[in-house]
Amino acid sequence: MAEFGIWVDEDGGFAETGFRSSEQAQQGIGDLVFAEPYLRDYTLSVVEICPDHEEQPKEGCEECDAEPGEDDADDDESDSLSHAA
Ligand SMILES: [Zn+2]
Repeated sequence: MAEFGIWVDEDGGFAETGFRSSEQAQQGIGDLVFAEPYLRDYTLSVVEICPDHEEQPKEGCEECDAEPGEDDADDDESDSLSHAA
């Protein structure tokens, strides 16, 4: 099942995740700016979350772009020199 979150452009991250529909997330934006008024100055948008990486949007997921087909690569960084450059 698709999951949606509230993406903050300026932060490059999600302010809130775990919504089951885009409508729910849209409502969540209203609640969020009410609770955190400073977020009104930010660019908030509803985006679908990457099914493999809950910190990333489905469209343009940096993790999927970086390691196509290697979901566990990040967990093995200590054993690997692949990031040396
Ligand atoms: Zn991903």
